[in-house]
Amino acid sequence: MSVIVLESILTCPVCGHVKTEHMPQDACQWFYECEGCHTVLRPRPGDCCVFCSYGSVPCPPVQAQRQARDCGCTGGD
Ligand SMILES: [Zn+2]
Repeated sequence: MSVIVLESILTCPVCGHVKTEHMPQDACQWFYECEGCHTVLRPRPGDCCVFCSYGSVPCPPVQAQRQARDCGCTGGD
């Protein structure tokens, strides 16, 4: 079974501020303003959104993609 996590813990690379953010299920977020230092974060090169770059879990579309790719139909864990 695939489980898509809709909350990601974002860690600011500038000041280290940590915040749990809710992710939209089918959209990527390009900009995120840190509550701590008000730096506007953008995705790193190769990442599709700020959650993929700075979050504890990548965005929902990427999670789904990875799970589809990783599925070897072994019956799950
Ligand atoms: Zn910050």
